[in-house]
Amino acid sequence: MPLEQSEAVILRTYPIGEQDKLVVLFSQDKGVIKGVAKGARKFGNRFGSSLEPMSRVRTFYYEKERQELVTISNCDLIESFFDVQKDLDVACALSYFAELIEEFSPSRSRDDLLYRLILSLLRGFKEKGDVRLLSRYFESWFLRINGWLPEFKRCQRCHKPLAEAGWLSPKRDGVYCGACAPEKRDAVGPEVLSFTVWAKKNPPLTEAGAPFSVEALEAVRRAHQCIIVFHLEKEPRTMRFLKKGPD
Ligand SMILES: [Zn+2]
Repeated sequence: MPLEQSEAVILRTYPIGEQDKLVVLFSQDKGVIKGVAKGARKFGNRFGSSLEPMSRVRTFYYEKERQELVTISNCDLIESFFDVQKDLDVACALSYFAELIEEFSPSRSRDDLLYRLILSLLRGFKEKGDVRLLSRYFESWFLRINGWLPEFKRCQRCHKPLAEAGWLSPKRDGVYCGACAPEKRDAVGPEVLSFTVWAKKNPPLTEAGAPFSVEALEAVRRAHQCIIVFHLEKEPRTMRFLKKGPD
């Protein structure tokens, strides 16, 4: 069994057995990997604080053929994001991102764009970026990477520009104008298109800040989460802890 290594972000850990931890990693080389860190709960163990959720680490592990779990032999901390999670809203947003990555990313499949996305958002939180803005930014890119971001500019059927409002289709794969909409349940306003265009062109934190009101970000949240829930076929467990509307 050769020793493998990869850079990774720890998505979550939980205790198993008396002294071990099960670790879900999002690795740069192979996407989502699950492994057992033996002895990780012993006092003064070799993993130190490197297994905290959202730590960026270099991980060393052994992989056995046809086994889902790898054996993690060591983890070196590269960058800690422990302090940003003292803010409860940030901690909730990050566990939501972790759940989406774990649920939707096929395991053992490299995804550079998604890896860079999560790192840029972790740094955005470190620089005290707005939690709602960064959460919508993550969702927008997450939907884009998975090919689920609908065309918000034109009606899916008649291709007329959606100047005012459109309606998400029941299958959440497109937006329709008032005349073509098969169902008028989930309205999508022009702020969703503006946000999509902005997020595509800009890093998550810009010096000028983002030109979106709390209400606009709330409309973007509704549209994004409608599509996420459709594809996940359930509400993400962490979604209900996110702050929903304006305070
Ligand atoms: Zn139409």
